[in-house]
Amino acid sequence: MEKTDVLVVGSSAAGLVVATTGKRVYPDKKFTVVTIHHKTLIPCGIPYVFGSVGSTDKDILPAEKMFEALGIDIIYDEITEVNREEKVATFKSGKEMNYDKLILGTGSEPVKPAWLPGTDLKHVFTVPKNKVYLDEMHKELKDCKKIITIGAGFIGVEISDELNKVGKEVTLIEKLPHILGMAFDEDVAIKAQEILSERGVIIKAGVGVKAIQGTGNVEGVVLENDEFIEADAVILSMGYKPNIQLAEKMGLPINSQGFITVDEYMRTEDSSILAVGDCAEKRDFVTRKPSSVMLASTACAEARIAGMNLFKLCAIKTFSGTISIFSTALGNTGFGVAGLTENLARKEGFDIVTGVFNGIDRHPGTLSDTHSQFVKLIVGKESGVILGGEVYGGLSVGELTNTIGIIIQNRMSINSLLTAQIGTHPLLTASPAGYPLMKAAESASSQIMFMQKA
Ligand SMILES: Cc1cc2nc3c(=O)[nH]c(=O)nc-3n(C[C@H](O)[C@H](O)[C@H](O)COP(=O)(O)OP(=O)(O)OC[C@H]3O[C@@H](n4cnc5c(N)ncnc54)[C@H](O)[C@@H]3O)c2cc1C
Repeated sequence: MEKTDVLVVGSSAAGLVVATTGKRVYPDKKFTVVTIHHKTLIPCGIPYVFGSVGSTDKDILPAEKMFEALGIDIIYDEITEVNREEKVATFKSGKEMNYDKLILGTGSEPVKPAWLPGTDLKHVFTVPKNKVYLDEMHKELKDCKKIITIGAGFIGVEISDELNKVGKEVTLIEKLPHILGMAFDEDVAIKAQEILSERGVIIKAGVGVKAIQGTGNVEGVVLENDEFIEADAVILSMGYKPNIQLAEKMGLPINSQGFITVDEYMRTEDSSILAVGDCAEKRDFVTRKPSSVMLASTACAEARIAGMNLFKLCAIKTFSGTISIFSTALGNTGFGVAGLTENLARKEGFDIVTGVFNGIDRHPGTLSDTHSQFVKLIVGKESGVILGGEVYGGLSVGELTNTIGIIIQNRMSINSLLTAQIGTHPLLTASPAGYPLMKAAESASSQIMFMQKA
């Protein structure tokens, strides 16, 4: 029987990063990656396949090349069983392989809600990370004029915007009062909704769907208020669930949210089996509650940690919780969020203040490519610790969101932020005197000082 030191299941964000990190840290170990699909897509690029990128062929993760360069073996197959006692994995092809460490990076799959009638009609699609499915969907959508997207999380919003760009009549339906309503506070979500609507996407927010209708082919969607909207195709963007079938078969513990239970080193209860990425348990960095946020950035962070700790634990290289750091763009306006929103912080019982500033991202403001930049910080009133931030503005807000993410992870306080140094340049950043991140911090600090005096 073939043997490997490390057997990785999956070659998407988590599988790729755990294998390459592990091989870098433990070059003498033999690494083998097993994955179902011959071509793994860059998952975050999928919405753009329907518009700006144009084809899944232009959205391929160069996993094979990266593995080859590092001497990692790749096998296209599916692992169907694992004998934990013997440490043997069985493949769909019948092949068996002995491992020392097994890492599950089996990911997630789109949800097709069982309560929603009509999801099996022709031209009702989900958005899986599967090239063959997406190629067929792309082909079918070319002949469809009226498209309905159900669910206005970031995937639904991005796909709607891309289909609108290529001339489709797109209606986006969202049960929450505003699009992106789970990710952002109302002030930011409203701004995103205004922009998407100006760009031509028809938005029906604050109303859920009751049924998808049609005979054979889809014909439209009935809303909870009984309005009927005609459609040639419907895209379900109603969430993802962790892919844990293999883990369940192996008898590994699964948490209450349906993820494989792991510790801070990403080990399951069986210390020779680890789980990383969308299939692995998540805990919120700030609230410490179980979280079901699934992001490629989190998957890669977990994978780096698992890869580094594989054969030698290091107490300072642990995963200390998920910070949902996410950004998107609508035209030339970027939106980003890191950590807790104001809404969530208040709901969880944090005593907070918020600091808000609306500035510009270049200086002087007479430069031709300036863009407004909005920053909102969510700050613990007593501690001054920054718990979250939301931004929108030019495309530089993607990196600004990451900066806020690092601030949160390092538990920086408003004081340490206000005494920190930043680099600025007229063509690249806001002015040092009116830097929106610092001005928002000042605003939060003034409120805290005022409350302390009162
Ligand atoms: C449309 C879309 C847009 C997104 N945009 C963003 C974004 O902008 N930013 C962001 O941070 N996140 C984004 N995400 C989320 C991100 O894609 C996921 O968090 C990420 O893909 C998780 O990676 P993963 O490796 O854990 O799982 P997956 O990407 O789901 O990959 C799992 C892999 O495991 C393989 N596999 C499963 N079972 C087996 C088995 N038994 N044997 C062998 N192989 C197996 C699968 O074939 C697959 O290759 C987006 C997701 C989607 C769907």
